[in-house]
Amino acid sequence: MELPLNPALRINLGKRAGVTAGLLGVLCVCAEFCFLFPHLLVSNDSRAIYVEHLGLVRGILQAAIVATFALGAVSVLTLRSKAHGGIAMLLALVAMLLGGSEAEPLTQQPRAMSAGLDYFALELFVLGLVFIPMERLWGLHPQRIFREGWQTDLKHFFISHVGVQLISFAVMIPVQVFLAWAVRMDFQAHVAAQPVWLQFFEILVVVDLVSYWVHRAFHQVPWMWKFHAIHHSSQQMDWLASSRSHLLDVLVNRFAGFVPVFLLGFSPSAIYGYLVFVSFHAVYIHANVNHRWPYLRWVFATPEFHHWHHTSDEEGIDKNFAVFLSFIDAIFGTAHLPAHWPSRYGTTKFQPPETYLGQLAYPFQRHEETPYG
Ligand SMILES: [Zn+2]
Repeated sequence: MELPLNPALRINLGKRAGVTAGLLGVLCVCAEFCFLFPHLLVSNDSRAIYVEHLGLVRGILQAAIVATFALGAVSVLTLRSKAHGGIAMLLALVAMLLGGSEAEPLTQQPRAMSAGLDYFALELFVLGLVFIPMERLWGLHPQRIFREGWQTDLKHFFISHVGVQLISFAVMIPVQVFLAWAVRMDFQAHVAAQPVWLQFFEILVVVDLVSYWVHRAFHQVPWMWKFHAIHHSSQQMDWLASSRSHLLDVLVNRFAGFVPVFLLGFSPSAIYGYLVFVSFHAVYIHANVNHRWPYLRWVFATPEFHHWHHTSDEEGIDKNFAVFLSFIDAIFGTAHLPAHWPSRYGTTKFQPPETYLGQLAYPFQRHEETPYG
């Protein structure tokens, strides 16, 4: 049975419904596992928040399962190929069989370490919900959602989110152990006593100044570049491309940002506010959107500003290093914001492989320079 619609419209509707249902179905199954094994799979920091809002969390899961069923059914009814819609409906069924919105924990014992499967599923859901329509509405370059390399980027996204606690520990413990001597409690008390909004801006400035030079070193020191080249290897920019980074690149950047925050002693609410804000902003500046932010682009990093950082066009090489405050590049002479947009993206001398493991191994291997473009 197929719906009586114009064929082009029917196929378009069916594909969109099928893909959305498939993605939503995967997220529903992830959420079920989080409900069943919370002490293993839900990040320790967030568990209490979910328990506090359990009714809401269960309601969202229920709605997502129903939406997966409905969209899967639409896809099955509109397309000749029943694969996408069928798989999505099957995923919704699996989510229901795992307990649906009533699933209860099978584990009771808290552990020192937990995976952040909740963080992965929730971030993918929220970012997809915001950025996929945004890139449809304000698309810069015509490209598909499932463009080349999306699976590799999703693997980077998965590892950096599921391993969030391990990454944080790997960054915070060495700093806390080796720099404890440099902490001045009375000074930190003054810093933390300031209004939260003021601390937020102070963190932005301090972390950005450090990050600017670390980022510049990643570009200009040859062995460091081989790690950072992974992040620059995307030849199409979009919100998911922001997560393509070598793990050591991620660790060094977080470490460099955490040192001044730890030494100055900002309050936890200012730090959390900053983290939420910059992680969202970091995704936004990679998005395939044509937002230019006239005048303000000289104050903070915009998609245009960061797209120029990712270009392989000669004029943009080694420009625009700032994470958030674009005027830092203007101060140090590396800002590049012409009237036009870059035409292509990627690395120029080396081209890392497209597989996740290949990208992890890449900086440790010897490579010949390959001409590009
Ligand atoms: Zn870079």
